[in-house]
Amino acid sequence: MRLVHSAIFVGLVALVASPTLSKAVTEADLRAHIAILASDAFEGRKPGTEGEAKTVKYIAEQWARAGVKPAAADGGWFEPVPLIQRGQGRFDYSFTAKGRKLRVGSDDIVLIGKQADYMRSDLPMIFAGVGVKADGTVAADVAGKAALVLFDAENVPDKMKSPRARREALVAAGAEAVIFVGDSKGSWPSLRRLLLSRPISLESRETRAPLEGAITSEFAVGLVTAAGQDWDTLRAHAKQADFVGEALGIDANFNVKTDIYRFTSSNVIGKIPGRKKNSGALLFMGHWDHLGICAPEGAPDRICNGAVDNASGIAVMNEVAKALAQKKHDRDVYFVATTAEESGLLGAYAFAQKPVLPLDQIILALNVDTIAIAPRGSKVAIIGRGTTPLDAVVEAVAKKTGRVLEGSTDANAFMQRQDGWALMQKGVPALMVGGSFADLDLLQKFLGSDYHGPKDELKDTTELGGAAEDADLHIALGRHFADTRKYKSKKAGD
Ligand SMILES: [Zn+2]
Repeated sequence: MRLVHSAIFVGLVALVASPTLSKAVTEADLRAHIAILASDAFEGRKPGTEGEAKTVKYIAEQWARAGVKPAAADGGWFEPVPLIQRGQGRFDYSFTAKGRKLRVGSDDIVLIGKQADYMRSDLPMIFAGVGVKADGTVAADVAGKAALVLFDAENVPDKMKSPRARREALVAAGAEAVIFVGDSKGSWPSLRRLLLSRPISLESRETRAPLEGAITSEFAVGLVTAAGQDWDTLRAHAKQADFVGEALGIDANFNVKTDIYRFTSSNVIGKIPGRKKNSGALLFMGHWDHLGICAPEGAPDRICNGAVDNASGIAVMNEVAKALAQKKHDRDVYFVATTAEESGLLGAYAFAQKPVLPLDQIILALNVDTIAIAPRGSKVAIIGRGTTPLDAVVEAVAKKTGRVLEGSTDANAFMQRQDGWALMQKGVPALMVGGSFADLDLLQKFLGSDYHGPKDELKDTTELGGAAEDADLHIALGRHFADTRKYKSKKAGD
């Protein structure tokens, strides 16, 4: 009898106490989410797969259970993100010089069109060196031409190492086709693999030439030699500071079929509605996607489970949502679980393009990514430090939760590699705050080992102490920034 009585009493106390008494997030809380999200049943959470369906359903259920309201544009949880993948189809090509057909002697060529059918004859070819000058601009007159571009040469400007950056510069300069030349003893296999990997992109934000591709250096040598030019001389010219490209006197004919697959993925979007209208909003974000089945057939473990990257971030966001939804705040608090971060922050860019609230209402976006790295007691780094006036506020809140800030701006090296970057480019104050980027040696240990491989899975040894503390810190930041008296913002009529 007494037992029953006391049980009821305890129950009542818990009921009354829960809105004000916040219990700290534990390693076990986080582990429970990660065990599901990073399980083999979720197949590595690749956008467009059964793993996506399970992932976004799990997140929406967790948020609904916490009391978060759905906040996609249609009133549901899922904001559609239209994505596209391209694969190589059948193709034909030939080259002529002065009306004479050229024999090339190599068929190491990859060609991928922007559209399913691409056909062009007599397309003039230009050798564009590495494609761009030291300042990133294009010197060669590539407009309406097929540009041959050296993929890896010592004079590629540091900022333009990625083929994507140079491709985009060349497309902006009007190139009809961008064809990289890969060193067959060096970069060719990875360049070829990259082009044939059916990369996912956000069609509404693409900068693509009508035709893109790659050839080996042997192919290039064969081609220019057949047209009476010398490849080594061309390469030597490309190293000169005043190089402006060299017309090859070659015309190309292409008939390229491209395998195009369009599908719709989702950002999961929820909201704790604030009680003060037009007082701005706080936004938490983290990517739910990972790399899916990533190892070749026959490998002992083929699934990239993405336990740290970024099941850990979603786990933290779920616990932050649970804690913050226990009471109303002044400001709206949004939660956005993004898709296709691994393909280039695509879900975040889609959100920035078509946000469910005006972006200028967001007083702060906090991204949570790769958070299960550091142990308890770690310092707190801010990615985006110095880009907003909020560092001191974050520091004060961190201090209240017993945390010390890491003073350097070293973690800013990761600024463009995380979803917040998509919002920063639109002028939204966006930070990543936490311990996993405070000790960069420890982070590098992960990046140099399990990262983006089948071994990023939940283990007994997975460090969740720092993540649990970071979850508490995010709850404290949420309470602070969602309170119009604690944090006054010039935004939205405050
Ligand atoms: Zn990743």
